[in-house]
Amino acid sequence: MQRPTSWNTAGSIAGAVLGLAVGVSLAIGAVVGGRALGTAAGIGLAVAASLAVTVIPYVAASRTDHAAVLGQFLRRFMIGVNAGMNTVLAGVVLTPVIGVILGLVTLLAAVDAMALSPRYQRVLGWASWLMPMSWGATALGAAFCLVSLAAAGAILHRWSRARILRIVLDPTVGALVIHGGLIHGPTAFDMGNIVFVNPGYIDESSPDTTCDAVVAHETGHTLAVAAFGPAFGLFDLIYENLLGAGARDYGERIAESHANCPGRSTVPMWGLPESVLDCSPSLRA
Ligand SMILES: [Zn+2]
Repeated sequence: MQRPTSWNTAGSIAGAVLGLAVGVSLAIGAVVGGRALGTAAGIGLAVAASLAVTVIPYVAASRTDHAAVLGQFLRRFMIGVNAGMNTVLAGVVLTPVIGVILGLVTLLAAVDAMALSPRYQRVLGWASWLMPMSWGATALGAAFCLVSLAAAGAILHRWSRARILRIVLDPTVGALVIHGGLIHGPTAFDMGNIVFVNPGYIDESSPDTTCDAVVAHETGHTLAVAAFGPAFGLFDLIYENLLGAGARDYGERIAESHANCPGRSTVPMWGLPESVLDCSPSLRA
């Protein structure tokens, strides 16, 4: 049985603290650069810093036992970086108090007892709407959503591909779940706090393609964007799809821990394997 090791390990604490220091430093650099070179340059520096500092930990975590000290360190390091960047950027863009609160909410994802708590997941997911590090992914998702809404309105029901079956707000993580619409993939995908589901993928004959299982997995990605930031989501996308890791991808295994469908490998961050989602057809929304 997979169980997360305790928060009270040197590796976990060192990872979070080091990550936080790196994240704060990088974000201050981006803010200083933005003031000197312009807002666009500042945003570019923040994105570049997030990508640069996440790539090696992501690759290393993908090849490491997640329960071992190094695996624990790397996961907390990536969360710490994102927490530090959210603290500084929200402190500048919003207010310093909001920055500290958002940074703390992000950082608590490094504590197993918090990450596993549905109450904390609700706070983290909703807070992600205010987190500067989540804005890029959610803004792209919002743009996709607007295109789908415009297409559905313009084409009405004459083209089934553009039809939106329903839009549901998932209160457990603050995510908008769009079933159908012009923009959807072969299965389902997440863009920050917006989830796109292909209705054709929902298939009650298989435990991991029931509606509940698919949404639970995708909202696991919503939580990951909030906790780890945009670079993590990008490397998840690359590893899963372009490098062929599929369900074995590190980000995929973390997202799947929010659904825990039978037979799926997970990094038990958002839920433990014994809390297997009842993927029975009767639970379909
Ligand atoms: Zn996924």
